[in-house]
Amino acid sequence: MKKPVYETHVQKGILLNANENSENLPASLLQEIKDALDSILFNRYPDPGETELLESYAKAMELSASMLLAGNGSDQMLGYVIGYYLKEGKTLYTFDPDFSMYEYYAGTYGASVKKFAISEEKPFDTEGFIQHGKELNVDMIMFSNPNNPSGICLPIETIEKIIQAFPNIPVIVDEAYFEFADETSAISLIDQYENLLVTRTLSKAYGLAGLRIGFLIANEGRMEELKKAFVPYALNSFSMKAACIVLQHKEHMEQYVQSIKQERKRMMTAASAFKKMQLFNSQTNFLYGKAEDKEKLLDLFGKQEIVIRNYAGSNAFRITIGTKEENDKVLEVLRQFEVTE
Ligand code: PMP
Repeated sequence: MKKPVYETHVQKGILLNANENSENLPASLLQEIKDALDSILFNRYPDPGETELLESYAKAMELSASMLLAGNGSDQMLGYVIGYYLKEGKTLYTFDPDFSMYEYYAGTYGASVKKFAISEEKPFDTEGFIQHGKELNVDMIMFSNPNNPSGICLPIETIEKIIQAFPNIPVIVDEAYFEFADETSAISLIDQYENLLVTRTLSKAYGLAGLRIGFLIANEGRMEELKKAFVPYALNSFSMKAACIVLQHKEHMEQYVQSIKQERKRMMTAASAFKKMQLFNSQTNFLYGKAEDKEKLLDLFGKQEIVIRNYAGSNAFRITIGTKEENDKVLEVLRQFEVTE
């Protein structure tokens, strides 16, 4: 079992490889977090019920706290549900391409993985996906929406068809990038479908990748069951406190999302003139691209010390949308690539 490589901040240069916010929290929020330090009981175990955090997130999302469970990034929640429902002889059904950790976690529990090919270049084949899944007799469905890496986002009608077609198995929709999308969230269907689970994170739109906070959202009854087997102190007192403060200032997240959407549009417009590589429409904070002569393009990014995500063995790459200045540098590299022989 090969663990996917996580490229992190140990690299230097302009980091546009992990879909993080390029900027840290504003000074005012950092100050609020520092001021809150005195109230944290570092000598005591954290609240195992995660009460304050779940209530803060419930308020921000206009949900009931009883539908929520939080852990160390949505990664932990995804791994947890895979471990909860799958074991040797069971099958996880996902997309190709999709987030590599699903396959890794399934493997750690001895489950197998089947994939359905999707493409940013043609519409999603809903009937084909359902038919193939039924033929394979899969035990769980998990996919990201919007999809990492392709950037496409399936409409709620498609999600509902999938949930309806597999009423007896859990369907997990990973909405790590949903704040950047213009579709309706699958969360709106949770009351209706007991087999639907959704994951969210504070790592992307909220800019808190370093804090490691993710959520699992499910129907109250199912959540009650899931909570019973979850590790008691998944999150520490400090992370929970800092997250609560950031959640009280939701406007910070909303401004960042707006700026990413504007920059996304600007970059797509600028890149549409280029012929040597193609960027695909995205509902996320990153752009997925393809280039025939990708090695040359990677070389140009390397010379400018811009770190992007490379998909080795294919002509694909992925670039996080950064600050305006960083994006200008990316566009400059793409321009250079366009005029190289
Ligand atoms: N889902 C998707 C689709 C992701 O791309 C990522 C991280 N890149 C995650 C989940 C996990 O994010 P986190 O653990 O930081 O919440």
